[in-house]
Amino acid sequence: MAARIRRNDQVEVLSGRDRGVRGEVVAVNVRENRAIVNGVNLVKRHQRPTGPQNPGGIIEREAPIDLSNLGLVCNPCGSAVRVKFNQLDDGRKVRVCIKCDEVMD
Ligand SMILES: [Zn+2]
Repeated sequence: MAARIRRNDQVEVLSGRDRGVRGEVVAVNVRENRAIVNGVNLVKRHQRPTGPQNPGGIIEREAPIDLSNLGLVCNPCGSAVRVKFNQLDDGRKVRVCIKCDEVMD
């Protein structure tokens, strides 16, 4: 199945605390419909010291964000857009910007 949002995509957060923030998709969990986006949805975690290499403390990490809260950023449009899927002659599906018809793949 073709995914709307993939790893390395440039996305924008559409709702919630980080609305308007952009980042690159680091990982997508298709099963849970969530993605990790660089610099988005940061949470502070209290890390226990686990040894001399890792003294512990408070670290900030990205928490998974629901895919429905993310929009793919289209470069020509300069904003987050909805995408549609077009099927090529060879059967491949590509994502296309619904506003400007730019192919995103
Ligand atoms: Zn566009």
